[in-house]
Amino acid sequence: MLYSSLFLALLSASLSAAAPSTHDHAHSLRAHATRDGGHSLQLQVKPQDDMNDPDDLTVAATIINNGSKAVKILNDPNSVLSTWKTHTFDFVAIPSVGPDGLKSKASSLPASVDAIRVKYNPTVAASLEDSDVYTVLQPGESKTIVHDLSGMYNFHTVGSYGVRLTAAAEYLRVVEDDGSISMVPAALSAGSETATLALLSIPSTATLTSRKGLVNAGKPGLDVFVDPLAAHLGSRMVRRVEDPKFKNCTAEQQSAINEAIPFANQYIENANQYLNGTLGERYTTWFGAQMENRTEIVKGHYANLTGMPDKFQFDCSCNQPDTYAYVYPNKFPTVYFCGAFWRAPANGTDSKAGTIVHEGTHFTNIGSTDDYAYGQSGAKDLAKSDPDQGVMNADSHEYFSENNPQLD
Ligand SMILES: [Zn+2]
Repeated sequence: MLYSSLFLALLSASLSAAAPSTHDHAHSLRAHATRDGGHSLQLQVKPQDDMNDPDDLTVAATIINNGSKAVKILNDPNSVLSTWKTHTFDFVAIPSVGPDGLKSKASSLPASVDAIRVKYNPTVAASLEDSDVYTVLQPGESKTIVHDLSGMYNFHTVGSYGVRLTAAAEYLRVVEDDGSISMVPAALSAGSETATLALLSIPSTATLTSRKGLVNAGKPGLDVFVDPLAAHLGSRMVRRVEDPKFKNCTAEQQSAINEAIPFANQYIENANQYLNGTLGERYTTWFGAQMENRTEIVKGHYANLTGMPDKFQFDCSCNQPDTYAYVYPNKFPTVYFCGAFWRAPANGTDSKAGTIVHEGTHFTNIGSTDDYAYGQSGAKDLAKSDPDQGVMNADSHEYFSENNPQLD
């Protein structure tokens, strides 16, 4: 049973390597993941040797199938398999060791991150026949994905940094033969914790903070819209009368958005009313046990959302079939819609209106929510395992407002 003991060795290496970045939610994922024994995936992360400019920062991630059968892995936008500029990597300062063997008291602040937030649904993605939405690796096969991280990270000091995956990115979503989805932990290279960190050094001459900021979402050409007419005539000549509310949207897309906005406003109004009354199963299902600090956070989010769908601007240039929408949290009020959005119903579960609520909560002036869990079952599990993250999870807000099935 060489194979199974190797798997266990890799699994335990992954568990110990992951320990410093763990969070309660990661623990619950881990407990879930250990039920699925048949896969053995390994990850290697390699940054460019020196980082002189955060506007020119890349990391290569290699995923290796060490198992004995082929794996079909979803290209989750928060995983290394996707180049979306989501929060997939962390850069942590490594204290330098002096000649006396003592570690310097260098700042241990991790680099701060500015990332996009994407609405994605693994179940919807797994149902698509499109080969863009997953990666298939045969036994022994590997794939390297180069991540352009320009504009995403701001460093506080020069020195050595370790690059590591976020707790969520240590897991990959594998589509099993029966169509179910397993969260499979990817083993990092075995060894001590520092040995598993890919090192990046930042020389004293380096620029520490990005000058450009986050200017693209990580999909080539995604944010770049070239108007062929404007290119021909020069922008001064072109004064197209266009609704500033929409960018790159067809008339059909505009009417679909206009149909969803009143539902989104109703969802928000209804959520506000509910939250000012007696909280019951509807609250606890999506946000977990009631604690005053947490209920206040949720109330604040919906209060901030009031009237916002009418202020949002919408960009329809994204075609990614497995993704609903994304935002730059600091760039209110633009919401970007992608392929899955157009197939969604106007209201109801995972609807257009619900997606507008979801994306709205990500904006830093509204809720600064993250995407800790996707899908109804993911959001319900999160409410039970980590309600502190539940009240900061965008999909939890969406399902609470869609209220389908209806709860009181
Ligand atoms: Zn999201």
